[in-house]
Amino acid sequence: MQAVVFRGAHMVRAEERARPEVGPGQVLVRVRACGVCGTDRHIYEGEFPAAPGVVLGHEYAGEVVEVGPGVSDLEPGQKVAVDPNIACGICRPCRMGKVHLCESLTAVGVNYDGGFAEYSLVPRAQLYPFSGDLDWAEAAMAEPVACCLHGIDLAGIRGGETVLVIGGGAIGQIHAQLARLSGAGRVALTDPVLRRRELAREMGVDLLLDPSAQSLDEMRAALHGGADVVIEAVGSAATAEQSIALAARGGTVIWFGVAAPEARSAVSPYDIYRREITLRGSFVNPFTHERALALLTGGRLRVGPLITRRIGLDEVPAVLATPARDDLKVVAIP
Ligand SMILES: [Zn+2]
Ligand SMILES: [Zn+2]
Repeated sequence: MQAVVFRGAHMVRAEERARPEVGPGQVLVRVRACGVCGTDRHIYEGEFPAAPGVVLGHEYAGEVVEVGPGVSDLEPGQKVAVDPNIACGICRPCRMGKVHLCESLTAVGVNYDGGFAEYSLVPRAQLYPFSGDLDWAEAAMAEPVACCLHGIDLAGIRGGETVLVIGGGAIGQIHAQLARLSGAGRVALTDPVLRRRELAREMGVDLLLDPSAQSLDEMRAALHGGADVVIEAVGSAATAEQSIALAARGGTVIWFGVAAPEARSAVSPYDIYRREITLRGSFVNPFTHERALALLTGGRLRVGPLITRRIGLDEVPAVLATPARDDLKVVAIP
């Protein structure tokens, strides 16, 4: 079978591999779609550790081909989406119920062979069966949607509140829709790229802001003093500072975007204190995959327009090396 293999920083290749054999507790999945994620880019650049020789790809869905000994509740042909993150279950965060903050968290497509391949072996516990005629590429979006759902859970949006999303990439566009589904009275989105603002408008965002043309004061005024919830979905020091500045008094700020580990933002402790700002990070997808799939299969979320390109496995290395600026989500179809 064909597979996209990580050999080291800047060395990712499409290679021929033997189709894997199922072991106890495992399921062999015929991969139908696997999304290219920012994390894959970081792995390619050597900025995020991955096991050399591993098949990349952690946002995927497919069909069950064969089940290993001990797996009795799945049958060949069943559609499944993959939750890639595997917690150890025995460290202190795991035992405190925060499995996603596991001290030895591993992931399919990072530490074990993943979804940029025709077939993938997945532990049964990582699979979420689903039915219906959901498009495969959209089913592969269950993973990023599940991560966004965790951020939305942490934001605690109350009906009628104003929610601002900073960044109109695929993740920001998902957050904007989830904010609406959570009862936001007004959803705003800021992005310097016109196409992304236009897409956000098509997706139902009420207020579009352009940080390259509008000052912080102008944006704050457009938000009537600030947003009750601000979701930062860029991952830069500058937008992190902006997210606090654009929060209303008593507002909640979620830092969702993945910043470089060495990035630093200036925060005024007095400002956080005086305006009672709640600042929270949001990391991966603890027990949100089931709900993410429900939103997708139920047609409550529109992720189709976010998929700007479908490519073959052989094109994945080039996309990782030189991502196109116009792309939102690129999905590989093995
Ligand atoms: Zn990802
Ligand atoms: Zn653990």
